[in-house]
Amino acid sequence: MLENLQKFYINGKWVDPFSHVNMPVINPATELKIGDISMGSKADVDYAVVAAKHAFESYSQTSKSERIELLIKLKNLMNLRFEDLAQAMRMEMGAPITMSREAQADAGIGHLQGFIDALSGLEENTILTNGDILLREPIGVCGLITPWNWPINQIALKVIPALATGCTCILKPSEYTPISAMIYAEIIDEAGYPAGVFNLLQGDGKSVGAEMSRHPEIQMMSFTGSTKAGISITHDAAETVKRVTLELGGKSPNLVFSDCDLEAQVTASVKECMFNTGQSCDAPTRLLVERSCYDRALQIAKNAADKTNVGDPEKEGDHIGPLFDKIQFDRVQEMIRIGIDEGATLLAGGLGRPDGYNKGWYVKPTIFSDVRNDMAIAQLEIFGPVLVIIPFETESEAIEIANDTPYGLAAYIQTGNLERAKRISSKLRAGAIHVNGGEFNYGSPFGGYKQSGNGREGGEMGLHDYLETKTLHGLIGG
Ligand code: NAD
Repeated sequence: MLENLQKFYINGKWVDPFSHVNMPVINPATELKIGDISMGSKADVDYAVVAAKHAFESYSQTSKSERIELLIKLKNLMNLRFEDLAQAMRMEMGAPITMSREAQADAGIGHLQGFIDALSGLEENTILTNGDILLREPIGVCGLITPWNWPINQIALKVIPALATGCTCILKPSEYTPISAMIYAEIIDEAGYPAGVFNLLQGDGKSVGAEMSRHPEIQMMSFTGSTKAGISITHDAAETVKRVTLELGGKSPNLVFSDCDLEAQVTASVKECMFNTGQSCDAPTRLLVERSCYDRALQIAKNAADKTNVGDPEKEGDHIGPLFDKIQFDRVQEMIRIGIDEGATLLAGGLGRPDGYNKGWYVKPTIFSDVRNDMAIAQLEIFGPVLVIIPFETESEAIEIANDTPYGLAAYIQTGNLERAKRISSKLRAGAIHVNGGEFNYGSPFGGYKQSGNGREGGEMGLHDYLETKTLHGLIGG
């Protein structure tokens, strides 16, 4: 299964890299090495760009129906390799196998169908009322950089719209989750895409990622990851005036009003925060609770955290797994320590591994109550199973606290009053609002306000990011 791990997929072939630097891939549940990846270099980036540029000449001229046919083939093959993808993410980032199948691998197929539907309905040419013709064309060679926390979800949200619109691309997945990306490349190879249309490089951000961002022959960078890296990519891409789309961090508020079904919604909110071991950019990590139901909400939240099971990713079930790496384990421990030092009340969990674990990057599902929104634990993205609870007195205070962060990815509202939900939704500065557990649907746009990024991924809006506009004057009577 791992025979291509140390190779790159360039110009339709698995090739040896120019560089000879390796990095181990570690299973976070066992701390054992799974294999090594090669870390790419400038020479590898240049080689992939030449292939992608050459392939763009003919692939950009393919018809929509040819591209839809390839995407349908890809979807069928993705179904055949579904279990391999789920097992890869279980191994490389510790996603518990049930969740890895039902959410992580499922996203690869769900987004693909969302893009097939969107492409089917996309009008590539329109005639303006003044008689000019407006064409939508693929932007060119795209550089795609993805994180480790939702590996296939993020890859699908970038690779598929590139392929769907007639672009060619170079994918650099996170160096911590290279196996699922390698399998994804094998599937694309089998689907029969022309050589050079899709290319895969492994490596880190400082070398491969930065070389891609600076490359004069890459027309667009699509990035998902930390706000810090997003800023760096924007700087690097500025010299060559690339289009840059960014999906960055979050610290999403979850507003709980006393008129909601408190037991059900607070329990579900804690579960949602801890899902994927808290490593989701849009996780509801700040629970803002109306004072009149605050004490009862704390009891329900504590109960839910205490009942959150931590367990081996190999086992079936709805438990959470380890964090993806020691780096993340240390970061989460540090943030829990900061919360204690800041004077927040530790309601559940705390420092150290859960009882019975002495290896693997497992942490305790943790809740802080009596948090103020100016505390570091309320402002910084912790990216672990750590929830902070903040009381509020009035609706307007809740909105003020909710918006008081540099981020604006998602927001959540729990209320029995749908008029209130609508009123508040219009005032929250976030790219998605989830009311009473309303879930994300494949095909809808995903992205953030403020420092959570720009651009929207998924469905029709996700295709538009990869398109240029050309206006034809004089071809039909004006
Ligand atoms: P990260 O920024 O450290 O790395 C993400 C990717 O960027 C990796 O492939 C990495 O190699 C590369 N990279 C890092 N520095 C780079 C640079 N200077 N130039 C080019 N590439 C560079 O993030 P991470 O730790 O892998 O992922 C977690 C972060 O991703 C969190 O902040 C999370 O909120 C965010 N995220 C956002 C979304 C979203 O859709 N908004 C989705 C998932 C994750």
